[in-house]
Amino acid sequence: MQGKRGLILGVANNRSIAWGIAKACRAQGAELAFTYQGEALEKRVRPLAAELGGHVVGHCDVTDTATVDAVFAETQRVLGGLDFVLHAIAFSDKDELTGRYVDTTEGNFAKSLLISCYSFTAIAQRAEKLMTNGGSLLTLTYYGAEKWMPHYNVMGVAKAALEASVRYLAADLGEKNIRVNAISAGPIKTLAASGIGDFRYILKWNEYNSPLRRTVTIDEVGDAGMYFLSNLSRGVTGEIHHVDAGYHVVGMKNPNAPDI
Ligand code: NAD
Repeated sequence: MQGKRGLILGVANNRSIAWGIAKACRAQGAELAFTYQGEALEKRVRPLAAELGGHVVGHCDVTDTATVDAVFAETQRVLGGLDFVLHAIAFSDKDELTGRYVDTTEGNFAKSLLISCYSFTAIAQRAEKLMTNGGSLLTLTYYGAEKWMPHYNVMGVAKAALEASVRYLAADLGEKNIRVNAISAGPIKTLAASGIGDFRYILKWNEYNSPLRRTVTIDEVGDAGMYFLSNLSRGVTGEIHHVDAGYHVVGMKNPNAPDI
């Protein structure tokens, strides 16, 4: 990835999936720019960006369009253009990531879809202008988009919409040689995941029932992310790629799994 310039949205700390992907891209020589959401996370993101010799291009809250425009303007200024963008952003009110989907409120539905789905399209609109030699856009999704999962609720609906938007964006931007893909990661203990009800149970269930009999790490998602953001995947677009220790192929509980 020598000479490739990338914008990374979604690092909160060193357990973030975005951090795993950023490290893998930097290890192959990419030049990186990072955003942060708010002052509290800025304190975590600045030293992480420095560790990878990266730039910090400002505060970005995708519910505030002005901040999205500002970080793209700053990215253009410091990097002079873009070859790839990682979108690793999702949000839902924690109170609705437990219990029943049917009880989702209109306000949280709209907010969750805006932050977790529409923001990827908003970012693609701005990235297109900076990707004068083609490029690669990557987002993160979860199996709860495809199948019912306990407590995932509105986030499952948002991820389903996000996965559909990957296909529509891929079709729109393909002419410009801009590729659009998603990684469907298995459950990983991160700040965002801690908001999901019974998350420890979900981790254990995946560990006992996935073909590899374990969960995945941010470094494993990171290496797959590097593949999508680099020329290694130059013939691939519109793809939802599972990095989940194979869990998505399982149709039934492993009969040898211990009780949780
Ligand atoms: P994380 O908490 O480290 O990252 C989530 C990021 O979203 C944070 O950096 C946060 O600042 C950002 N964010 C939330 N609302 C925002 C807003 N309004 N504007 C800008 N940024 C905002 O957690 P993570 O698990 O690394 O999450 C990254 C992505 O991976 C998410 O899309 C998540 O749904 C997805 N994912 C996570 C898992 C998992 O088990 N951790 C599994 C599959 C997919």
